[in-house]
Amino acid sequence: MGKRILVTGGAGFLGSHLCERLLEAGHDVLCVDNYFTGTKANVMACLDNPRFELMRHDVTFPLYVEVDEIYNLACPASPVHYQHDPVQTTKTSVHGAINMLGLAKRVRAKIFQASTSEVYGDPTVHPQVESYRGNVNPLGPRACYDEGKRCAETLFFDYHRQHNLRIKVARIFNTYGPRMHPNDGRVVSNFIVQALKGEDITIYGDGMQTRAFCYVDDLLDGWLRLMDHTPDDFTGPVNIGNPVEMPIRHLAEKILDKVGGKGKLVFAPLPVDDPMQRCPDITLAREKLKWEPKVALDQGLTKTIAFFDELLKSNRDVSRVGR
Ligand code: NAD
Ligand code: UDP
Ligand code: UDP
Repeated sequence: MGKRILVTGGAGFLGSHLCERLLEAGHDVLCVDNYFTGTKANVMACLDNPRFELMRHDVTFPLYVEVDEIYNLACPASPVHYQHDPVQTTKTSVHGAINMLGLAKRVRAKIFQASTSEVYGDPTVHPQVESYRGNVNPLGPRACYDEGKRCAETLFFDYHRQHNLRIKVARIFNTYGPRMHPNDGRVVSNFIVQALKGEDITIYGDGMQTRAFCYVDDLLDGWLRLMDHTPDDFTGPVNIGNPVEMPIRHLAEKILDKVGGKGKLVFAPLPVDDPMQRCPDITLAREKLKWEPKVALDQGLTKTIAFFDELLKSNRDVSRVGR
């Protein structure tokens, strides 16, 4: 039997892929988004499906609908976007979580939270395990996102303890793939777009800071395993990401090599509080979800480069953030 599933932030990068996957699995999907960073274009392929519904709504306001499950993704994810209006970012995470938890409580829905590796801040434990409590600067420019997401986790666990809510919390590490926003400032999209345009590749700092990149399809396999194939007493938080770590400089060289652009590597200042090392320990996901990523970086980059190549050639207006 198909379920009625609410996806907040469903018109964004990850949300649009999730909506497609849920429709393919036979569910009814209600996608709610305020189009801050997402677009209708991202869910164009879903619009013809009678089981898909799209609603413009800001999750900082209450929402009364009847659903069986909720995936709470609404929140800008790129540092450039979440720092654009930091107060709204915190409101989105905190008020958004309260409203979605209140909704889940009223209709007794199972609820998923898209948390983040940023709850670990600039980590002093490496690779990051779920039991690590993190090293976040609560006053810095990343705090609106990091602390907002940390508070959302707190709310999820308090609603779970206080109201017996069925919760699933995933800590997502850097993810890439088609439908990333070309102007969103994240490293994979920046480097690919720069390389395709023949521009220089902007490395912040010396490029020796590390990240580990997960392809979107792998990530969603992990989410669906968490929601559909774990018992109610497994709440997470569980790290979901790809444990292949690399310096940002290597990523730049790899993308330049694959795209074959004329640009060279140029260096710019490292943003404040930029984490120096990040890589998930996915032991818990392997054990509880029976999941690990399958898509190699080369393979995932090829698909992502093809997406941006097509987007740039189509000359679509891609500068809509904040409208
Ligand atoms: P995205 O910016 O593409 O998507 C976020 C979506 O939320 C957008 O469609 C945006 O318009 C919408 N949104 C923002 N504020 C809203 C509000 N107040 N009300 C309703 N909708 C709102 O980002 P994404 O990469 O798809 O990220 C999705 C979720 O996953 C986010 O919660 C993010 O924090 C989390 N996450 C993503 C990554 C990653 O690498 N992509 C890593 C860690 C966590
Ligand atoms: N809420 C919502 N949809 C619902 C139920 C609740 O948006 O279907 C919001 C409502 O605005 C409320 C919040 O969720 O402020 C938290 O709800 P809860 O029942 O936990 O708290 P209370 O209503 O007692 O403040
Ligand atoms: N970065 C970079 N050049 C860019 C964009 C980002 O060197 O054009 C760096 C950034 O400073 C960070 C890493 O790449 O060290 C990942 O940045 P992103 O914004 O994608 O994600 P996050 O910092 O949230 O992990």
